[in-house]
Amino acid sequence: MKISDLGGEFSLIDRLVKKVESDLLIEGIGDDAAVIRWTDDQHLLVTTDMLLDGDHFNTEWYTPYQIGWKSMVANLSDIAAMGGEPMFSFVSIAIPDDMEVEFLDGLYEGMQAATDRYGGAIVGGDTTHGKVLSINIAVLGIVAPEHLCRRGDAEVGDLICVTGPLGGSWGGLELLFKDIREGTTKHLEPDCRLDISSKLAPHVNAMIDVSDGLASEVRHICHMSGTGAVVHHEKVPLHPDAISAGKRLNKDPYRWALGGGEDFELVFTIPPGLLSKVEGFGVIVIGEILPKNEGIQLMKDGESTVLSGGYDHFSE
Ligand code: ADP
Ligand code: MG
Repeated sequence: MKISDLGGEFSLIDRLVKKVESDLLIEGIGDDAAVIRWTDDQHLLVTTDMLLDGDHFNTEWYTPYQIGWKSMVANLSDIAAMGGEPMFSFVSIAIPDDMEVEFLDGLYEGMQAATDRYGGAIVGGDTTHGKVLSINIAVLGIVAPEHLCRRGDAEVGDLICVTGPLGGSWGGLELLFKDIREGTTKHLEPDCRLDISSKLAPHVNAMIDVSDGLASEVRHICHMSGTGAVVHHEKVPLHPDAISAGKRLNKDPYRWALGGGEDFELVFTIPPGLLSKVEGFGVIVIGEILPKNEGIQLMKDGESTVLSGGYDHFSE
């Protein structure tokens, strides 16, 4: 059987991994990071992501620095999504035989620039050889229990917000496919939102980062929270790079915002009464959490459709 026949990446994980019950485990599989009881006033967060040359990045478009930066940021973004702060990271790499040391210097400069900016110093890892450059990073973080923002914490009536404009990363990728370099920085060297995440966390209910596209992230929140939702198409903010790439390539940038990925902005839900606490951070309200029986909707021009789209490594 093919993984796509099974229903994709998440159905595969469900099938492979047994659920664990432990008093120490607050959140296992299914959120941006696992949450482990640590002390009375801090939970431990653990997240890991793997990136492969030729799939998640390539050495033609990216500088070694950018590969390192993006690999680290993709992991740090998952700590941001839980409302936490990164503490330490572990970097495991498989290096092809012909790779130059100077390339690896650049790779680590990029990773260290990201940890210098956001936190999460590299304190361990593993080095081996392989056919293609593979980078696996694990990040440990901490979060105060009252600031923890899980995907499953949304409540009916919450507003759905994003921390910034979307679609720029996928728009950049489409340009790179056409050998255009201008307007691709958001794809090659993305930021994560650790600059504001811990300030949002005390007020927010559910939170997730945009790694697979807005539609997919909203569906994750709904599935984990047992709710429905409505996203208003015209309120979804587009990144300027998405708009200009859309014009240049004659494609619809909303498709990239809803179904692309790697924007590393945050999507969160918040009770309407608390919106004033976070408005100063440039957040944009795009929808609302509804009861489950109302489904997960995209409202466009007064018409409701099912909110579809999102990146899955194993879909066809
Ligand atoms: P994110 O996009 O936020 O990094 P993922 O979609 O990669 O999250 O993963 C979703 C959840 O599934 C996470 O809790 C992650 O730890 C878990 N997971 C992913 N792959 C595996 C695997 N091979 N074995 C066990 N758990 C996994
Ligand atoms: Mg995530």
